[in-house]
Amino acid sequence: MRCGGRAARPAWTGCWWGEDVVKPAPFRYLRPTSLDEALDALATLGDEAKPIAGGQSLVPMLNFRLARPGVLIDLGRIPALTGVHRTDGSLRIGAMTRQRVLELDQDIADRLPVLRAALRHVGHVQIRTRGTIGGSLAHADAAAELPALALALDATVEVASVAGTRTVAAADLFLGPWTTCLAPDELLTRVDVPLAWQRAAIVELARRHGDFALAGVVGARRPATTDDAGIRLVGFGVGWTPVRLTEAEAALAAGGSAEVVADAAAAGIDPIDDIHADAAWRRDGLRALVTRIADQLGVAA
Ligand SMILES: Cc1cc2nc3c(=O)[nH]c(=O)nc-3n(C[C@H](O)[C@H](O)[C@H](O)COP(=O)(O)OP(=O)(O)OC[C@H]3O[C@@H](n4cnc5c(N)ncnc54)[C@H](O)[C@@H]3O)c2cc1C
Repeated sequence: MRCGGRAARPAWTGCWWGEDVVKPAPFRYLRPTSLDEALDALATLGDEAKPIAGGQSLVPMLNFRLARPGVLIDLGRIPALTGVHRTDGSLRIGAMTRQRVLELDQDIADRLPVLRAALRHVGHVQIRTRGTIGGSLAHADAAAELPALALALDATVEVASVAGTRTVAAADLFLGPWTTCLAPDELLTRVDVPLAWQRAAIVELARRHGDFALAGVVGARRPATTDDAGIRLVGFGVGWTPVRLTEAEAALAAGGSAEVVADAAAAGIDPIDDIHADAAWRRDGLRALVTRIADQLGVAA
């Protein structure tokens, strides 16, 4: 269908992209029913293929033709990728577990309340009903809540290919904007979240509820060990990846005041500057958010 051309255009379509109505480029669609089948397809097709999970980020990219895979591999019919395995020490969450399922799980809310708090910032109910935890981590948006949470909580992900599986720490997963260390033939299959955190919180600034954050912070605290002060502060929406605020963590561990910690956080980032907010605004926002988080963690002097 054409915009403004000879063909009729129903009222609900938009004319956003030149003359053409926004539609994806043609692609083939595969719907494997086992992980092995999906991995075989990825190994054979390489760069030509892309996995699709909830489609909440990928489908808009297809529609705008920012992504043009020749083949989509739908992960939605692979039972092994869905569900939560609970142990005393961790949650093992299948990559295809829907964000809304995690949000509504009362046991998870009791054991890891910050996960529910983070999910409630992710878009709207409709988006979380389709969107998956693995899709959010694999998409690696620097303003997204779940990658920042994974980094703050020392989560790891399991990654699989036909060659086998490997475990990747969240700290090594996010390489740049919308870029992870996953190879084209690899799938993120599982997220392991340790439950050792005594307290954790998330705060963010966004223009409207459900929008991506203009600046956000996740904080977490657990008992110190000889080589780890047990404090995590992670900023999101302020750089090209979620970013550990290590100077601020050290200031907090040393008993610094909320103001000192916030200043250390603001000094430790190189904020992005775009049409949504400039760098100075994001730095000020981060400073205010870190003050709030330090208070919520109960560790600031
Ligand atoms: C209006 C709107 C508002 C939104 N607001 C927010 C927000 O505030 N915060 C936020 O965090 N997100 C937001 N999102 C994005 C949403 O959270 C998505 O669910 C998420 O980013 C992607 O998850 P998905 O399951 O939909 O993945 P998809 O869109 O299906 O995939 C995203 C990318 O990850 C790859 N991928 C998916 N699964 C895997 C896997 N298992 N292994 C390897 N690669 C994989 C895909 O190939 C693709 O490149 C919003 C989306 C919309 C449409």
